[in-house]
Amino acid sequence: MVSDLTISESSNTKRLNDPVEMEKVRNQFPILNQIVNKRPLIYFDNAATTQKPICVLESIESYYKKDNSNVHRGIHTLSQRATDGYEGARARTAEYIGAQTNEIVFTRGTTEAINLVANAWGLDNLGPGDEILLTEMEHHSNMVPWQLIAKRTGSKVVYVPVCNDQGEIDESFLRQALTSGRVKIFSFTYISNTLGVVNPVAQWCELARQNGVISFVDAAQACGHRPMNVQEIGCDFLAMSGHKMAAPTGIGALFGRADVLESMSPYQGGGEMISEVTFEESYWNVVPHKFEAGTPNIAGAIGLAAAMDYLDDIGRDQIAEHDATLAAYAYDQLKRLDDIRILGPATGRAGVVSFSLKGAPTQDLITLADQRGIALRGGHHCNQPLMRKLGLDATARASFYLYNTTEEIDRMMVELRDILDFLRS
Ligand SMILES: *Cc1c(COP(=O)(O)O)cnc(C)c1O
Repeated sequence: MVSDLTISESSNTKRLNDPVEMEKVRNQFPILNQIVNKRPLIYFDNAATTQKPICVLESIESYYKKDNSNVHRGIHTLSQRATDGYEGARARTAEYIGAQTNEIVFTRGTTEAINLVANAWGLDNLGPGDEILLTEMEHHSNMVPWQLIAKRTGSKVVYVPVCNDQGEIDESFLRQALTSGRVKIFSFTYISNTLGVVNPVAQWCELARQNGVISFVDAAQACGHRPMNVQEIGCDFLAMSGHKMAAPTGIGALFGRADVLESMSPYQGGGEMISEVTFEESYWNVVPHKFEAGTPNIAGAIGLAAAMDYLDDIGRDQIAEHDATLAAYAYDQLKRLDDIRILGPATGRAGVVSFSLKGAPTQDLITLADQRGIALRGGHHCNQPLMRKLGLDATARASFYLYNTTEEIDRMMVELRDILDFLRS
């Protein structure tokens, strides 16, 4: 066993560091191999969505060509195959994060997972005087559902302050809030999509647990980028989005600790989530089916499982290392530009680098980069309150994935210098 592991690790190391192996990896992503505005495409918008490898595309095509049918209620062969594919994907997702299969609820993505908990858990467990603790670096998806539920329950949303451009949070505020007795749930991001900060999730979950506070980890930016185990993290809930981890759009997952899921009311009503229905009343199916009303995204779940196989074949530890290498390289190169402001920590960051350049409006910068075939994202990155607090209305963001290279960053730097000369002249 040990020698097997060593062999696979060393061959994996080569895959993202070695140019020949990297070429093979990139060939698995046909979309990367195209000319955009007369230049070879450089795709640096992976924090918004990642590209999908051939094996994922083929898993979806094969399902629709051979097995397509509705799940669970059918007895015929195709329906059984569809059910096996869908439930197999649930088991794969559980394995991917160290959960039990019945602790995985398929959703459209992170946003729906948060809305599910805010409603199904929040409506029953929050009231006047209660607080929902978030951080100021949350994505709008981890703010707005809680604001809505706070209004309906008379509870209050409280934010752990982000103190500076580096993304450091106010630790003493966090401690005071969690020990106040008022906070019922603490929901926070694993990796900030704006700052590239990686939060100490296990430590925060432990602090929450010691104080009887439910914890929710938004793992949208982390799930496809690093090994992850919900037992080690110690969270009650965790959410992920397939499309940010090489899988299709429209599929994601909520992990919920079995006893917490059991205690919750349904979120949406419909088929699949019931055990028995009369004209007056209905009885709920078991967890996790209780939370999956209607025909689910079967093909999406199958694509998600294929993506997990792909990522684990590359090695999530290798992907994390590759992200860190690219982020450090980009940070180092960008720092050399005059009058640049880079958000997030200098070291230990995820593969996300946001920056703004004096005398170069972000909108113009992104548009001119696109004209040279480089896909960056510009704007508030669904983090408007934080940007406002830091005195910015927009930043440009380069975000990386396993198929990006330092050569691409070099080309971005050449183009950025040229664009800056133009905008600042
Ligand atoms: C993208 C993202 C979300 C929302 O994910 P969806 O896939 O759009 O539902 C939430 N949180 C973070 C940190 C994100 O990056």
